[in-house]
Amino acid sequence: MKNLKYFEDALLKLAIDKGVIDKSQRTSLLKERVIKKTPLLESISREVECEALLSLLADIYDATVVLEDEVKVNESPDADKLFEKFGIVLGDVTSNKADVYLFEPIFDVEISKIESMINKKLRLLVVSKDVFENISQDLKNEIEHKKHHTISTNEQLKALKEDDVAIFFADELLQKCFDMKASDIHIEPLKDSFRVRMRLNGMLEEFGKYDEFFYPFLSSRVKLLANLDIAERRQTQDGALLFKVKNKDFFVDIPFRVSVMPTIYGEKIVLRRLSSGDEMIYLSELGMEEDILDKWKKAIKRPHGIILVSGPTGSGKSTTLFAAINEINKTNINITTVEDPVEFKIPGVNQLQIDSHKISFSHALRSILRQDPDVIMLGEIRDKETAETALRASLTGHMVFSTIHTNDAPSSATRLIDMGIEPFLVASSVVGILAQRLIRVLCSACKTEHVLSKSESEILYLEENTKVYKAKGCRKCNGSGYVSRMGVYEFLVVDDVISQMINHNKGDVDIKEYAINECGMKTILQSAKEILLAHKTSYDEVMRIAAE
Ligand SMILES: [Zn+2]
Repeated sequence: MKNLKYFEDALLKLAIDKGVIDKSQRTSLLKERVIKKTPLLESISREVECEALLSLLADIYDATVVLEDEVKVNESPDADKLFEKFGIVLGDVTSNKADVYLFEPIFDVEISKIESMINKKLRLLVVSKDVFENISQDLKNEIEHKKHHTISTNEQLKALKEDDVAIFFADELLQKCFDMKASDIHIEPLKDSFRVRMRLNGMLEEFGKYDEFFYPFLSSRVKLLANLDIAERRQTQDGALLFKVKNKDFFVDIPFRVSVMPTIYGEKIVLRRLSSGDEMIYLSELGMEEDILDKWKKAIKRPHGIILVSGPTGSGKSTTLFAAINEINKTNINITTVEDPVEFKIPGVNQLQIDSHKISFSHALRSILRQDPDVIMLGEIRDKETAETALRASLTGHMVFSTIHTNDAPSSATRLIDMGIEPFLVASSVVGILAQRLIRVLCSACKTEHVLSKSESEILYLEENTKVYKAKGCRKCNGSGYVSRMGVYEFLVVDDVISQMINHNKGDVDIKEYAINECGMKTILQSAKEILLAHKTSYDEVMRIAAE
């Protein structure tokens, strides 16, 4: 077939000859072609049954009609190239023949170009428009995925000049970490190789394995950037680096914290990406459900008292606190934070970075109190001294935010008492405790139905055979079945009754029971169940965070 006009004329003629359209349809199709410039294939698709159209196209293309379940898409680099250049999808390939799927016409010039490119004769297979869109969408995702999700292979590194390896490889990893929104990069020496993993949505994924030959290049480069001692290989070292990543057309400085630790096979290096300060965090983005969000907003706007956020490491506690600080950040109040290290930068907020191994939080806090603060955010309450200083500060007209390492909200209050704080001090200062976890959100492109078994439903107090969804994994979600994470919350508002309970040293079980029954507090598990029933997460995820 020579060109588009030739194709359209042939299609019209054949459709008339075969009686698929009549003369009046032909007239209106021709009119549409002239006036609206609608491609004939598009307009005729509306008039003619799919099957009849495919048989016409097969005749004109000299092709075979193929149904969806017979399609076998090729996943080689050739397939990507042909799709990007010619918009056709490569199928089975033999020594001298290659199948290609198409719906729209392809012309002689292109066919001969492709044939000489891959050195094979083409066999054309025509599929319906829908099928073609499906398979080409998959291929598009795959190509996009390959672009984003691969880093250099051993072979590609070998092809570089030795002088270039260090800079190229380190730059590539840091840029990729930013592009993929990964939180950490792990460079891990193994017996006679090393691997690179990155943490995506809370889970580590392997990106590549390399000859040990390349390891010194990469490790020296990272240590140099982080101002660490390159010759030192037996001690742990901590540092930081600022890396210019490309963000669309701009360059942004992204800070990374670098930690080096000697292992039996060499130094393991972990780089943690910190916020650049350009990415503001808002309460509305955390995934808090409305009822909790309302209570939380009310609590953080109180003039004094202490608010605690509890949860295991990596449960998003700092993010929640920063979103809170962001919400109340106004020019007429003085906000000061003490952190180890500073994770997010907030304009207008005095952020104090301390090394908590050298200066205690309570020491820093006492200095801050001399600076006339309204709101204080304290990285973490770990010891009695810090707890006591923080609670007393909140009683003397300051609003204090901090985090504490406990499993649920009620046990945070009792934890403070266990640390040796007077119950009355806890009872009169704590205004609210938020417990939280991060749960992974299912990929909507591939999540599949899952009917809860008897034992599964019993654990969650749900009816047997409740329909939920589970993870499967596709190209879009990098095979993990999940695309992001969201917060799961339990918020305990300390009212007069709870305050009395704390004062009388009632245990966390009693407090929890009262909060659930009388104040309608949702537990972490209850909130996670709701996310499960909203089909946003899986049973496995609910169980995973319940065990944390
Ligand atoms: Zn998926």
